Amino acid sequence: MAEHESLEYGKADFVLLDNVSMEEFMGNLKLRFEKGRIYTYIGEVVVSVNPYRAMNIYGRDTVEQYKGRELYERPPHLFAIADAAYKAMKRRNKDTCIVISGESGAGKTEASKYIMQYIAAITNPNQRAEVERVKNMLLKSNCVLEAFGNAKTNRNDNSSRFGKYMDINFDFKGDPIGGHISNYLLEKVQTCQKGAPESLLRSLHIQKDPTAYTFIKVGGQIKSSINDNADFKAVADAMKVIGFTADEIQTVYKILATILHLGNLTFGVDGDVTLIENTKLVSVIKDLLSTKEENVEKALLYRTVATGRDVIEKQHTTQEASYGRDALAKAMYERLFCWIVGRINDIIEVKNYDARVHGKNTVIGVLDIYGFEIFQNNSFEQFCINYCNEKLQQLFIQLVLKQEQEEYQREGIPWKHIDYFNNQIIVDLVEQQHKGIFSVLDEACMNVGKVTDEVFLQGLNGKLAKHAHYTSRKLSPTDKSLEFDRDFRIRHYAGDVVYSVVGFIDKNKDTLFQDFKRLLYNSSNPVLKGMWPEGKLSITEVTKRPLTAATLFKNSMISLVENLACKEPYYVRCIKPNDVKSPLLFEQERCRHQVEYLGLLENVRVRRAGFANRQTYPRFLQRYKMISEFTWPNHDMPSDKDAVKKLLKGCGFDHDVAYGKTKVFIRTPRTLFSLEEQRAEMV
Ligand code: ADP
Ligand code: MG
Repeated sequence: MAEHESLEYGKADFVLLDNVSMEEFMGNLKLRFEKGRIYTYIGEVVVSVNPYRAMNIYGRDTVEQYKGRELYERPPHLFAIADAAYKAMKRRNKDTCIVISGESGAGKTEASKYIMQYIAAITNPNQRAEVERVKNMLLKSNCVLEAFGNAKTNRNDNSSRFGKYMDINFDFKGDPIGGHISNYLLEKVQTCQKGAPESLLRSLHIQKDPTAYTFIKVGGQIKSSINDNADFKAVADAMKVIGFTADEIQTVYKILATILHLGNLTFGVDGDVTLIENTKLVSVIKDLLSTKEENVEKALLYRTVATGRDVIEKQHTTQEASYGRDALAKAMYERLFCWIVGRINDIIEVKNYDARVHGKNTVIGVLDIYGFEIFQNNSFEQFCINYCNEKLQQLFIQLVLKQEQEEYQREGIPWKHIDYFNNQIIVDLVEQQHKGIFSVLDEACMNVGKVTDEVFLQGLNGKLAKHAHYTSRKLSPTDKSLEFDRDFRIRHYAGDVVYSVVGFIDKNKDTLFQDFKRLLYNSSNPVLKGMWPEGKLSITEVTKRPLTAATLFKNSMISLVENLACKEPYYVRCIKPNDVKSPLLFEQERCRHQVEYLGLLENVRVRRAGFANRQTYPRFLQRYKMISEFTWPNHDMPSDKDAVKKLLKGCGFDHDVAYGKTKVFIRTPRTLFSLEEQRAEMV
């Protein structure tokens, strides 16, 4: 019996469950995890449970097993999905994408690496040098992004604090010729010291002891479980190989060093003058930023404001100065990251490809993005992440249902209504013009006079009181789970989440004072200067409000979804089995929660309502004609369709299939497995 049918390992596809219930789903998931089967399908979706140990299932031999095979021919694996996406692209000239989601630490980034590795392994059979170069660049660029985009959080040693989408472009032969990366919402709070060599640290005035830096300490624990020195070298090498210049790499280090030093700056007062207490640091920073000491000081202590026609210098309070310092550090890190992504894109973009000569270049997109987050205290970041997941869920619903519906229509098969929750209403609640939460937030930020989180909450309560998916304490005064002036709750498709409005206003506004932008723009280091073009504007020229974080995020999500919508999607859903990185522990409650908010049961229902597999009649015969005396070696029916009917009736599968105009539709994978087995016995 094929491995994927052996009950010892549970069911290889959740579609095969006898009942679609949470209990059965969890039972199967747990059993498979305990048997070391970390992948399970829901139709063409891969559900993955982080094994937290090295698995011997990604080697060359495994690649060979999956290469060019159909999904149901082998046990569930990431490689099968990667191969399906690749085949669809190559055979049918379709752009495809692989959407990988799950919570922090669930294994998304590892999965995206294995997928890239697989694609790298199966392409370029002729070893063309240019293709090898491109492949190497794509893999290396990933390594650099990981290094800068990741921070140790208490949930994951190597947590990507951003969503990443990478397009890989292929030529008509199916070989990679370039790529493009987009990144979404880097959480800029944590910046960490990399394991740089002593000499470099000395030139940057960085001490080897990471506890010397406030920012690192505030970030929680010191990075320890990653081999800093080896990492550092790998990143530096990767940057060089990709094509960063020595000046650029130096500037990257200088910016990182500046950020660390900024964290140690403290402010005090002398009479009514605000001053910097550790002036030595200012001197270090001015060197790193290639500017003058007095410029650094002024930018940190004063703010230039235009009142009517006058321009005045307003002194910060110590509190304002500290706020500005932190905003500067965060903005520098974020800008650095975006700049690195931009440089990588310049380098890996497709060059010299003439579609008129070589035909259309096709794309496989890989999206590595955080899933639903529900913490004890949920803020602006969780709100954005969860909105993103609502968008992706909406896309999933539309694509799966729409695709199915259209094909049934084409094939003349009656459409069976699928009962599912359409979350468009929640997407609207967040993003709708004027009425949506993002709009209310932007309005609150533009208020003249009082701009506070409470005012924002009042705006929400005023506008959304009647919305079925929105509640606040004001609207349901007895609900003790909410605080009066602070919380609101959204009923997401994946469950209820209480958000605290504290910090929403601040995180939404572009809070970096123009003085800092000018400071960085006026640096005599051209690389640094180039990162801050808007510093060119003088205070009287800066009238247009920069776009808010909410608007930027919303726009980037809308274009992400538009981009995915025109591709054929494949999904990987990652689950984190426990919080202690144990390979043995399957925490039932924790996993159930994730299954719930990944919408996996819904997923199974949608798949079961449809058909697991469909093939054209000639193709079906070609594969299975040997299992029936009616069709082997040739049939004498008037059409292939009639022959397939006879074959399936003969095998007793007639009840599980539908006959379309050009294709036979097989409802459950079980039938397909049986056909495969009978075939295997014959050949
Ligand atoms: P995410 O990107 O979802 O936050 P990662 O992909 O970084 O999570 O995975 C977190 C950690 O879990 C990895 O550093 C690795 O130790 C472990 N891990 C994840 N997937 C696998 C896997 N397939 N095999 C072995 N270990 C894994
Ligand atoms: Mg990650």
